[in-house]
Parts: sequence; C-alpha cells; structure tokens
Amino acid sequence: MASIRHRVTIIGSGPAGHTAAIYLARAKMKPILFEGMMANGFAPGGQLTTTTEIENFPGFPKGLLGGELMDRMREQSIECGAEIETETISKLDLSSRPFRLWREGSEDQEEPTDTADAVILATGASAKRMHLPGEEIYWQNGISACAVCDGAVPLFRNKPLVVVGGGDSAVEEAIYLTKYASHVHVLVRRDVLRASKVMADRLLKHKDITVHFNTVPTECVGNGDVLTEVITRDTKTGESGSIKASGLFYAIGHVPATSLVKGQLDLDETGYIKTVPGTSLTNIEGVFAAGDVQDKRYRQAITSAGSGCMAALDAERYLSQFEN
Ligand code: FAD
Ligand code: NDP
Repeated sequence: MASIRHRVTIIGSGPAGHTAAIYLARAKMKPILFEGMMANGFAPGGQLTTTTEIENFPGFPKGLLGGELMDRMREQSIECGAEIETETISKLDLSSRPFRLWREGSEDQEEPTDTADAVILATGASAKRMHLPGEEIYWQNGISACAVCDGAVPLFRNKPLVVVGGGDSAVEEAIYLTKYASHVHVLVRRDVLRASKVMADRLLKHKDITVHFNTVPTECVGNGDVLTEVITRDTKTGESGSIKASGLFYAIGHVPATSLVKGQLDLDETGYIKTVPGTSLTNIEGVFAAGDVQDKRYRQAITSAGSGCMAALDAERYLSQFEN
C-alpha cells in the first residue's frame, strides 16, 4: 500500500501535541496527530489521564479532572480541523525527506505507512516509580510523583510528608511541600546529595525539612484508603525504620519517551531531546520537539501546551518556505 503523505505530523497526544494540532489546524496546515494506543504506557491524552483534579491549569477556577481537560483539548483539535489517528508510531526514519513513519504493526514493511514534510515530537515522559509493596493501593491516595501538581490537596495539609530522591527535583519538591506539610522528610539513598550545591545547601538548612541519608523506602502502609506510614531501610546497616506520613513523593527522575529518535536526534545525557534554547528546533531541520520529551525542568501541562504552540509556529514557518 502506498504511504500517506502529510505536510505535518504530530506524534503524541498530551497538552503539547494537542496545542500544536490546534495551532496548525487553524493555520490550515492540515495536521495529523497520532495519539497512540497505550503508547509508553499512557492512554490517549497522556499523563493527565492518570490523575484526578487539575487546579493549576488557567481558565478553570474550580479545577477539572485531568481526563476531562484532555478530552476538551482533543475536541478542540478536531473542531479546529486536525485529523486524529488512534495509533502508535513505532518507527521513524528522519534520514531522508519526506520523513518516513510506520504505524504499530507495520514496522517490518519496507514502505512506511506515512510520510511527512515536518514532524513534531510530543511523546512525553514518565516519572520513575519504585513499585513498592502497597504502592498500587495508595497511588494517588498519598503517593505521587509531582509535588507541584498534588501538594496542595487537603490530604497533605499540616501532615508529615516524605520525598524520595537526592537530586534538584527532590530539593525543589521538598521545599515546595513545606508550604503545606507539618514537616518534610527527604530520603536519600547514598550519603551525599546529587543536587547542585546551592540547592543542597538550601535543603540542609531548611528548618522544616529533615534529610535522612543512606535511607530508602521499602513499603507503603495505610488504613486501606490513604497512606499513613512509610517503612524504610538504612542502606548501610540494613536496619529498618518507619516514618509516619500522609504523603510519599517520588523525585527519582523521569524517563523521556525518545526511543523513536534515539541515534537520530541529539539527546542530552539523560535522554531528553535537545532543542535550541527558546525554540522547538532540534538538530534536524523540519523536526520539532515539544512538551515533557524535551523539558526536564518544568514538566507541567501549561508549559507543555506553551511549547506545543512554539512547535506549531516553528513548523509553520519551516513549511512556508516550500510554498509557491
Ligand atoms: P504527555 O502528557 O506525556 O503525553 C504524551 C502522549 O503521547 C501519551 O498519551 C503517549 O501515549 C503518546 N505517545 C508517546 N509515544 C507515542 C508514539 N510513538 N505514538 C503515538 N503516541 C505516542 N501538570 C500540571 O500542570 N498540573 C497538574 O496538576 C499535573 N498533575 C499531574 C499528575 C500526574 C499523576 C502526572 C503523571 C503528571 C501531572 N502533571 C501535571 C504533569 C503533566 O501531566 C505533564 O507535564 C504533561 O502531561 C506533559 O505533556 P506532554 O504533551 O509533553 O505529553
Ligand atoms: P536526577 O537524576 O538528577 O536525581 C535523581 C535522584 O533520585 C538521585 O539522587 C538518585 O540517587 C535518586 N534515585 C534514583 N533512583 C532511585 C531509587 N530507585 N531509589 C532511591 N533514590 C533513587 O533527577 P532530577 O529529576 O532531580 O533532575 C533531573 C535533571 O533536571 C538534573 O539535570 C537536574 O539538575 C535538573 N533539574 C534542575 C532544577 C533546577 O535547576 N532548579 C530543578 C529540577 C531538575 P543517586 O544520586 O544515588 O543516583
């Protein structure tokens, strides 16, 4: 079967992908968006489909459910004229033009299923989890991987909270959580922090934070509804301990969904797509990246949406040179 040719293809269906689709469709660029079929472990709509209330996305003063926000974005993409395919792109060849794409199940065929003059990568990322005993029961009922997203919920107000990790994210999350918590405990698996010195100093000096070095969580305990306690182990002595806590926040890193472009696009040392600062441009002309797949710092729905807009405008500018 002959490949289907598109001007611009968006891979990924979180806030970045849909914002790019809305802008490109309104600009009459006829975008197609591949939303994935449980690609990278997420339903179409991305990470927000795995959470409940979103209270920090502007325009919704009473908040709304993550799934509903993504349904609305999808509806808006279609309303503006974007085409959406519920398929995963499993292979991508950026070495020739037009770029070549294969839908899942067709990767063994020589001919690609689709080709595109421009590609926007908005495949997202996923937070690393530890999969401890009890984690499945209390995930989103005390356990989270995003303090900025979940820290303000009533469950955590004036309660002791635990953060796991020793990097800059763990420091930021711990300090952020002191706004709500009665006290914050940070569990660091080694005897040093990985965080930059300035961040580490800020953490160690904070009066509402206790850093437990050589300590890892081993079990999440609760009352059947919500988390109440974290069981720990000393990584040097093997001794076990316990911290009463209503919240356990993982800050042990994220994994960007870059397997499609590994070896083709420049990635940073942790696997994120490198973009020219302040733009969505990658090292290959006509290939753009937006959202969490290129952002290890902010990782928010609104920043992803903003970078999706940037990718759409960059793609539109790139494609306009081939017109007439
Ligand atoms: P993602 O949301 O990661 O979505 C990417 C999508 O692309 C996925 O659906 C995936 O299946 C699809 N995909 C991947 N590969 C392919 C492929 N090869 N082919 C087709 N499709 C593919 N942010 C906030 O601002 N406020 C919050 O309250 C908030 N709460 C959160 C709660 C939780 C539990 C989590 C995990 C995150 C939360 N975030 C929140 C962060 C926010 O969800 C992310 O920053 C945002 O979703 C990133 O958007 P994205 O567009 O980069 O991609
Ligand atoms: P990092 O990879 O830098 O740190 C992850 C931390 O989690 C490390 O301390 C690591 O321990 C620990 N860890 C990993 N796996 C486990 C595990 N299974 N059990 C217990 N602990 C574990 O990730 P970050 O998200 O913190 O940062 C990512 C990047 O983003 C960095 O480059 C960082 O500098 C940057 N960033 C910068 C910010 C800023 O400048 N304000 C804010 C946030 C992030 P170990 O050290 O032993 O490997």
